[in-house]
Order: sequence, then structure tokens, then C-alpha cells
Amino acid sequence: MEKQQTLRGRAVYSGITLHTGVRATLRINPAPENTGIWFRRVDVAGAPSVRAVASNVVDVRRGTTISGNGATVATVEHIMASLHACGVDNAVVDMDGPEPPILDGSAREFFAGIMDAGLDEQPAEAAVFRPSAPIHVNGGHTQMIISPQPEDSLRVFCTTSFAGCPFDPQFLEVEITRENFEKEIAPARTFVAFSDLRQLLAMGLVRGGSLDNAAILHGGAIFSKEKLLWQNEIVRHKILDIVGDLFLCGKRVRGCVVAVKPGHPRNVELAMAMMAQDAKS
Ligand SMILES: [Zn+2]
Repeated sequence: MEKQQTLRGRAVYSGITLHTGVRATLRINPAPENTGIWFRRVDVAGAPSVRAVASNVVDVRRGTTISGNGATVATVEHIMASLHACGVDNAVVDMDGPEPPILDGSAREFFAGIMDAGLDEQPAEAAVFRPSAPIHVNGGHTQMIISPQPEDSLRVFCTTSFAGCPFDPQFLEVEITRENFEKEIAPARTFVAFSDLRQLLAMGLVRGGSLDNAAILHGGAIFSKEKLLWQNEIVRHKILDIVGDLFLCGKRVRGCVVAVKPGHPRNVELAMAMMAQDAKS
């Protein structure tokens, strides 16, 4: 029987947000057993908080936004992925604005901060989602399925394809252990297609975006400040987003995920379908 876990100490992060481009501070605090993962807006009167579950997702266009009880928080996926990979079931994430700091566009610092804070086992049994039958969602170019598998682990097969990407298509299969997540997935950075940038800027978004926190795809090349960590860094980042978004089912996830050209809309739809299957069982 797996036990629930929370952080032993507090993990604190500070930096520029991706879309609004302002400075933000985020603190991940320990929480009692059976709390789940909550995001609290300490800058709003009464410090309202919202539980990080798929039914509270209100926007999936450029990252995953959750809202409830008067608390709205954008771009939760890299934090959620780090908590999921570390095996944290209970935490309260304090934010002083609607967006977390983007840091280097990856989950590297979020993961490291949680591990530095340390983990504490709690007496209650951990809630784990295991699909009782395959669940399939699709839309646009995206196909996603989660199926039962013999091993009691989360395994992700993912493929991406982007016009104008020099390494295309990209594929990776990875079992999401804490070690594999830290080495193979957490450091993979956010990327954006140059063709989307102008539109995003016109919408008033990505004001904090720079080559410090994103790689840019343009005309058959990838522009990034540091050289790419892997030729297939994009598919690794897509897996990072999946590990975060599927944790929005409210439980640790076990099973085999196959994702073709995934994105936040279908990730969150799959998490919703997982919650629905879970409610019936
Ligand atoms: Zn991401």
C-alpha cells in the first residue's frame, strides 16, 4: 500500500511570468493528508483557493488555467507535473498573482525545489487512478488513449510533428519514475512557433517570453539561447505537460498513455474522462 506524501519544508520560487511579464513569487507548502493539490491566491482579499482538478479547468489555449471560489490561476501544468513525478499528494501552492514564474520554461527548478524541501510520508493511503478499460479522446490532429498495463507505473508514448521543425517528427517512450522525470523530462523547455508569436503578442500575451524561457521554431530552425538539450526536446516537453495535466484527475496516474500530437485541450479532456470512469467504478 502506497502512503500519501507532502513536502517536509516549503519550496519557494521567484521570477517573471510568461504572459503578463511581471515578477511573481510562488510557494509550495506542506498540507495535511487528504487535502489534494490546491492553488491559493494570496494577493486576493480572503486568499481564495481552487483545487487543481480537471473539472476546475476554464482555459486550455496557452497552458492550463484553473478557476474556482474566486481564485484563478494560469499555467499550472509544470508545477503539477513536478508534484506528480515527486509523488506529492497534498500541497497548497501560494501565488501572489494569476500566473506562476515561468523560470527557464521547463520543470527543472520546480522539481528540484520540491526535492530540496524534502518529502514526508503521511498515514493515509495514496489515491491512485488505474484505468479499468481504455479511454480514448481525439480532436483536431490529436489522438490520446490511456490503457491498463501489467506494470504498476505510468508509461507515456508520445509523438509530435511541427512544420518548420528541423527534427520532425519526434517520438519518445518513457516510464515516469522520479529519476526518469528528473533526467529525461523536467529540463525540456517550452517552445513556440514564430508564426504564433505575433498573434500572441497582439493578444497581449507572452509579454514575459524571451529566449531565456522558450525556444522558437522558425523557418526550419530552432532558436534558443542555450543549445537544445536534446534533438527531441519538443516531444519531451509535451510529455511534461501530459504528466502535469493528467494529475488533474485528482489522483496519481498509472497506466499506458499513447499521445499523438497532444496539447492541453485533449490532455484535460482525458483527465476529465478518467475522473468520469473513476466515479463509475
Ligand atoms: Zn508546458
